[in-house]
Amino acid sequence: MKNKLIAGNWKMNGSLAANEQLLKAVLAGLGQTACQVAVGVPAIYLSQCQALLAGSAVHLAAQDISAHEGGAYTGEIAAAMLKEFGVRYVIVGHSERRHYHGETDEVVASKTQRALACGMTPIVCVGETLAEREAGKTDEVVKRQLASVIHANGHCVSEIVVAYEPVWAIGTGKTATPAQAQQVHAVLRAQLKAASAHADRIKLLYGGSMNAANASALLAQPDIDGGLIGGAALKAVDFLAIIASAA
Ligand code: PEP
Repeated sequence: MKNKLIAGNWKMNGSLAANEQLLKAVLAGLGQTACQVAVGVPAIYLSQCQALLAGSAVHLAAQDISAHEGGAYTGEIAAAMLKEFGVRYVIVGHSERRHYHGETDEVVASKTQRALACGMTPIVCVGETLAEREAGKTDEVVKRQLASVIHANGHCVSEIVVAYEPVWAIGTGKTATPAQAQQVHAVLRAQLKAASAHADRIKLLYGGSMNAANASALLAQPDIDGGLIGGAALKAVDFLAIIASAA
């Protein structure tokens, strides 16, 4: 069995003081854990968090990456720059980026390529809206989103992590049931298997209102290899409880 990955996504939350308090509490409570842990922090705090996490088992993640290698792209951050700050994982294609910043499947695929080219692991987010689920289009939507990443990355796709995040479950307190999540994860696993002989080693995370109370049941599903955690990653006690469920 693969060890699980629990990755926090702080989104646009935090401050120098709050980050230090949160990470110190996470590190103090972590102890020995069998699962991999990462925190996705706002880019401006990467340097601070890199220092706070130095020598620990917690990996640093970025929440976004430029689709371009470098040059005249004001406000963007290149893969090579993230790499300089010890970034191990990069969240790409989060539904908030797709929705508020118009990121297309093609842009997400390019961002995935940039992360892989610099030796970082992209956490590729896919997921359907409520309207798409109600229209019976869940499988079609997530397969389309993943297909674009597979197409652009060829055999390197075995190096990615995929996060299934139903949009209707993100930050809403509504969670996919373990059966609903497993059904979509099985669809994604089959798609990855058709594309790569090493698909079994690709971690598939669930994200969407995962918390201390529902984590165990979700993480017990055969194709759920971890979680991408938003709100619950901002409280050390909740984040640690989810990590404990995964270990
Ligand atoms: C997310 O933003 O990736 C997420 C899963 O958020 P939440 O856990 O708050 O639903």
